[in-house]
Amino acid sequence: MANIIDGKAVAQKFKNKLKSEIDFLKSHDLKPCLAVVLVGNNPASLVYVKAKGKVCEEMGITSLQYNFHKDIVQEELLWQIYQLNNDPKVHGILAQLPLPDHLDEELVLEAISPEKDVDGFHPVNVGRLVIGKPLFQPCTPLGIIKLLEDTNIDLSGKEAVIAGRSNIVGKPIAMMLLQKNATVTICHSKTLNLQEKIKRADVVIAAVGRPNMIKGEWIKQGAVVVDVGVNRLDNGKLAGDVEFDEACQRAAFITPVPGGVGPMTIAMLMYNTIEAAKRQRL
Ligand code: NDP
Repeated sequence: MANIIDGKAVAQKFKNKLKSEIDFLKSHDLKPCLAVVLVGNNPASLVYVKAKGKVCEEMGITSLQYNFHKDIVQEELLWQIYQLNNDPKVHGILAQLPLPDHLDEELVLEAISPEKDVDGFHPVNVGRLVIGKPLFQPCTPLGIIKLLEDTNIDLSGKEAVIAGRSNIVGKPIAMMLLQKNATVTICHSKTLNLQEKIKRADVVIAAVGRPNMIKGEWIKQGAVVVDVGVNRLDNGKLAGDVEFDEACQRAAFITPVPGGVGPMTIAMLMYNTIEAAKRQRL
């Protein structure tokens, strides 16, 4: 039976450590500050932004929220971001995605200074990750790495198979696992024989967004399974991308949904914001 990796507990441990660091920084007149840019009123985005603000408050990080009308023009939004780039009180900036269709997401992400890009989505930060010299790394994959480190899982030489190739999860986690000396395969919707690839994996990262798509019987005996998927079922419950109960019969370690990867994501945002504040002070 698999050991369940308790993301909530690991995230709390991580946040406690960060809290002591924030207290230290405050005693040196440095209060980390995160600016969150929200355009429109997408209900899911409102929930995420609220959750981020709440954790900032708990941690003693200043959280500034900029809500813009859904019809804001591109130039105005970029101008607002440049203001935040030039504001020395603001250490981290994130633009809550998705943006309304008339806005160019790439241009908006590129407008955020790489030094304040606590989501790690700016091409400079993506490039730095690829060459193995990261500055800010995307929060969800970074949270996965911290979870695996906390569980003392040695990735060196391991066969890691990732299902999903998005810019926010699949691709960056591939680079991070490679940096940890895993042998990495990235799968996607055009991959042939996904099952065969998962079956040989020592480490499975599921980031597809399809409930229970990865069958428990595909999991290799003793594998580590990280389920990033968050899927709302018709009965209102949340499910991951992996058949949890069946996978538990074979995996050595597995993350649950909810309570696995999710809690780590916001903790990593706090970590990046603190790092940004320290870098800008030095
Ligand atoms: P995207 O929709 O951007 O990407 C999904 C990926 O899955 C794509 O690369 C797609 O392939 C691939 N895919 C789709 N169908 C299949 C299939 N049948 N076989 C193999 N691959 C397939 O999703 P995200 O990366 O943004 O998110 C993935 C999941 O993780 C979602 O459930 C999301 O809610 C969750 N998530 C959770 C977070 C957390 O903090 N817990 C944070 C971010 C995401 P292709 O590229 O070919 O289309």
